[in-house]
Amino acid sequence: MTPDDPLQAPLGDLPGVGPSRAAALASAGLHTVEDLLLRFPLRYEDRGHIVAIASLRPGVATVSGEVLEAEVRPTRRPRFTVFEVTVGDASGTARAVFFNQRFLAQVFRPGQQVVLHGKVEWTSLGAQFQSPQYEFVDVTALSDGDSVHTGRIVPVYERIGPLTPKLQRDLVARALDRLPESITDPLPQEARRARGLPSRREALLDTHFPPEGTSVEVLNAFRTPAQIRLILEEFVLFQLALAEQRARVVTRAKPHRVEVSEATRALARRVLPFTLTPGQKEALRDIVTDLQRPTPMNRLLQGDVGAGKTIVALLAAVVAMANGLQVVLMAPTELLAEQHARTVAARLADTPFRSVLLTGSQRSVARRDALACIASGEAQLVIGTHAVLEDPAIFNRLGLVIIDEQHRFGVGQRARLRSKGALPDVLVMTATPIPRTLTLTAYGDLDVSVIRDLPPGRQPVLTTARPEVRREEAYAFVREQVAEGRQAYVVLPIIEDSDKIDVRAAVSMEADLRAGPLAGLRLGLLHGKLKATEKQAVMQAFVAHALDVLVTTTVIEVGVDVPNASVMIVEHAERFGLAQLHQLRGRVGRGAEQSYAILLFERPLSEDARERLKAMTDTTDGFVIAERDLAIRGPGDMFGTRQAGMPTLRIGDLRRDQDLMTEAHAMARVLMEHLPPDAVSRRLARQAWAGRFNLAQVG
Ligand code: ADP
Ligand code: MG
Repeated sequence: MTPDDPLQAPLGDLPGVGPSRAAALASAGLHTVEDLLLRFPLRYEDRGHIVAIASLRPGVATVSGEVLEAEVRPTRRPRFTVFEVTVGDASGTARAVFFNQRFLAQVFRPGQQVVLHGKVEWTSLGAQFQSPQYEFVDVTALSDGDSVHTGRIVPVYERIGPLTPKLQRDLVARALDRLPESITDPLPQEARRARGLPSRREALLDTHFPPEGTSVEVLNAFRTPAQIRLILEEFVLFQLALAEQRARVVTRAKPHRVEVSEATRALARRVLPFTLTPGQKEALRDIVTDLQRPTPMNRLLQGDVGAGKTIVALLAAVVAMANGLQVVLMAPTELLAEQHARTVAARLADTPFRSVLLTGSQRSVARRDALACIASGEAQLVIGTHAVLEDPAIFNRLGLVIIDEQHRFGVGQRARLRSKGALPDVLVMTATPIPRTLTLTAYGDLDVSVIRDLPPGRQPVLTTARPEVRREEAYAFVREQVAEGRQAYVVLPIIEDSDKIDVRAAVSMEADLRAGPLAGLRLGLLHGKLKATEKQAVMQAFVAHALDVLVTTTVIEVGVDVPNASVMIVEHAERFGLAQLHQLRGRVGRGAEQSYAILLFERPLSEDARERLKAMTDTTDGFVIAERDLAIRGPGDMFGTRQAGMPTLRIGDLRRDQDLMTEAHAMARVLMEHLPPDAVSRRLARQAWAGRFNLAQVG
């Protein structure tokens, strides 16, 4: 945009905005005229149909009149007050009541002109508004047919400190008045025409001051053509920005070549202990196709807990190794890295390939041996935690990096890999199924393969939520299952008794269980404060079925695979997030036996906690859980940090506008293909990455 673009003018230039208002606007992130205009109203109100007070009927209505009386009335209940206003117009009077809003006594004064909008009830004293929306208007404005505030559908903005919705409406009206006839439009005309979308100028006008006849319902659903256009504009810019980021990477050829020969296929078959599911096959095909391309793979493999991502990754690794390349498999915890090392070593036994484990807590001798194996080329597959990539030893023939369970491994870390000069193929795996919109957002720079099926014979985990007072029943059930040869997890939120948080600690819990309800069973204790070797020993004992019950913290949250475990008790389930509960539950139901999850909760339950537990007992489908999680928490919280690559959005709402993000993704693809790199949209998108979307540090 040009420097004299009126949309980029500071808000302080608007008549009526002095330094203090400008500061208040700035505190809400509104600096320029464009900032103000690219902010949707909270909602819309139809003030086009102001009715005479005498004709009020029960229902929703808008009236306009003078405040005749206003007073606070105490009630018989202590600390409960009713504020009562009487409003009159030429036809009659009506009352409005507000509960526990004493401060309104400072707001309403006899003689003011006010518009009331809301639900009308009928009482013995006549028509009464119940906590209506209210707005004071100038007497003169009422007679003015073109009014900004009444006589039409009006936008209602979120209050910013001293800036009332009404004042903001004035400012927006002024800003729109000064809008030039022609403004730069990031959406090319062809794209707009294909979708029947208005120009940017028209969209801004109609979004803030909808033309007569617009449906208030549609407006409040944010689905008028004007609103859709502004949302799409933001999403398309975002998707274009992602595509630009991606274009920077994928155009560079990787230094290695991968081919799939008959010998490679034979090796892969030797690794495979079972038949792949259709979903696994398809994912593997995607991956192997990527490996054979001249540019690096950037693929996300998504699949619910237990879907069998490990074997797919291992087969991809075999293909790379058969081409003389080194492979790194990274896990988020040492526990998981060790588990991978065990299973992978067993699977590779029949092949010429060897794997080594490289972790931070390894003794220096073991570490030196491991590094020597890597350097000599004796080991081709390196398994470890993140620290692995810090070791220069692994960068000599690095062809493939597999990142397991890394929903937190953002664009940033992938960029760091590239900055080390390596252009390996990258496969990111996650069991956190996220809604497609968010996949397009957080992982928009990745290609995505999804395994939607589960290995044959899996039964959904039967899940119940019970108050913790019914704990004894849960333990009795564990004893039953153990008697049938199964194993169980008891999961706790933290590891040590704390004065501040009343959480049953794993340490004392294990002792209590051993002495009490689970006496006679073989119990093990696992938590984050144990030494790595101790953790490993306990985990191995559980895997080998030398233990019946594992009392543990969330260290087992991801990846742990013990198919004989059939029961999980989660203590204080109300404290866990939904994604975390789903991950935890994924530790059972991994074999052919019916499995069970018992979620113990303590009262009182918050509304959110109740919804989380309900989601868990309603379904075991990770995608449904993810949608519910999104609905409960909102997209920001699902990822937490900017590092995960979630943009700052002004107009679009990832919950409300999922469908539009999908559409924007497709539109951006077309634009990338047809527009030259210096086209306005593409230029704006590149600027927006760091500016508007606030993703500068990411990639
Ligand atoms: P996740 O996708 O959660 O990482 P895993 O790769 O750990 O799942 O696999 C879960 C379990 O299912 C493992 O015990 C694995 O051996 C088994 N498994 C994976 N794929 C199949 C298959 N096609 N048939 C039978 N068992 C399978
Ligand atoms: Mg896994």
